[in-house]
Amino acid sequence: MDRFFAAHRERGLPVTTQRRAVFEAILGRSDHPTAEQLYDAVRRQLPQISRMTVHRILGAFVSLGLVARTPHPGSAARFDPKLDQHHHLVCLDCGRIIDVEDPRLNRLPWPDINPREFQIEDYHVHFRGRCAGCRQSSKAARVGQKPAARLALSSKSIKPGLKKAAP
Ligand SMILES: [Zn+2]
Ligand SMILES: [Zn+2]
Repeated sequence: MDRFFAAHRERGLPVTTQRRAVFEAILGRSDHPTAEQLYDAVRRQLPQISRMTVHRILGAFVSLGLVARTPHPGSAARFDPKLDQHHHLVCLDCGRIIDVEDPRLNRLPWPDINPREFQIEDYHVHFRGRCAGCRQSSKAARVGQKPAARLALSSKSIKPGLKKAAP
């Protein structure tokens, strides 16, 4: 919360209830929520808040450097309250983004480019693949097609919500 107040104070911006609620909603979340998910969370506290206001506040937070807009192959922008250099595992099935920290990834050599034409500021590695939940459901779907013996392994550990529709 400190950086929230500091950023507003430094720029003489008013700390409104709405801004505060949006920041509180994203702070401590590591699931890289969409604006829509944050809107749902904030609405529980401030039922009057509009979707547009939440989008606008998130945009302001990004320009204030309070949250990052995470590059993501999906269509909806995802927001990340974690600002220090870290990397992501991105699930190709459910879009889940999981933080990865590994000091080796922070020491990758930068490409040899003309710094006058492009100045690199930072970078971020995405590892694309399939998360445990999605791997479980596809395994369960495969197991389901086979007879008896394997069935015992099946559905218990499937997490609802992470499940991809079986083909
Ligand atoms: Zn997944
Ligand atoms: Zn992250």
